[in-house]
Amino acid sequence: MQGKRVVVLTGAGISAESGIRTFRDNGGLWEEHRIEDVATPQAWLADPSLVWHFYQRRRRQLQDVEPNPAHVALCELQNGLESMVLITQNVDNLHERGGSSDVIHMHGRLETLRCEATGRHEKRMNSTDFSDDFLLCTCCSTPSRVRPDIVWFGEIPMHMEEIYRAVDACEVFVVVGSSGHVYPAADLVDVARRHGAWTVLVNAEPPLNLDSFDEVHLGKAGELLPGLVRQWLGSEG
Ligand code: NAD
Repeated sequence: MQGKRVVVLTGAGISAESGIRTFRDNGGLWEEHRIEDVATPQAWLADPSLVWHFYQRRRRQLQDVEPNPAHVALCELQNGLESMVLITQNVDNLHERGGSSDVIHMHGRLETLRCEATGRHEKRMNSTDFSDDFLLCTCCSTPSRVRPDIVWFGEIPMHMEEIYRAVDACEVFVVVGSSGHVYPAADLVDVARRHGAWTVLVNAEPPLNLDSFDEVHLGKAGELLPGLVRQWLGSEG
């Protein structure tokens, strides 16, 4: 991979070994909830307390989990290559805590909250920010309620121009821990392929879009990635 333009896309599977549950491995439920009840704009309108409590639990959980060897390996890859863009579907902060910088969070972030009136994001991770009561923004003169800074199903993912620019131009496209169910993330491998990139998958199970990959490594990311990264950096084999 040395000297090549590399893009890596990660999904919920990379954080599974840190103890953060994925969707698909639990029969389509996220922490016992149906996605439509907690991760859609309609759910926020219908029952904001349920949605708020759900995301506050996810935010509190960040204090109890640690990055795993897969997050650390991707940081080493980024440091060892001239050009690597790291895109994640994940809303946790484990890439950053594993040492990666400039991570593109296409589905938003748990660490930040968004003012409902202005749309401004602010990092809210102080001990007073994890309450089950709704929180207010610090940007409006009469503070407004904040919502989770998450791209819910039916909303447009963030940073798509930057993402397509990187994917269109890449020579190697790597996906780690993503089921290929969630669009437009699941389509990015085909965009990369159409532009001539070599496509690589590291995933526990065959995803829906398995046929889009030139090279497939089935297994746990935390077990496979450290060795693969050493190979990709040319420091082994
Ligand atoms: P998904 O839950 O649909 O699929 C996870 C994939 O990871 C599966 O194909 C599974 O086989 C694989 N996997 C499980 N454990 C693995 C491991 N140890 N190593 C490698 N692969 C493993 O996840 P998705 O495709 O990312 O889509 C779900 C969406 O839900 C995300 O886009 C995200 O926005 C949100 N989500 C985020 C988190 C998080 O931030 N950690 C967790 C759950 C859901």
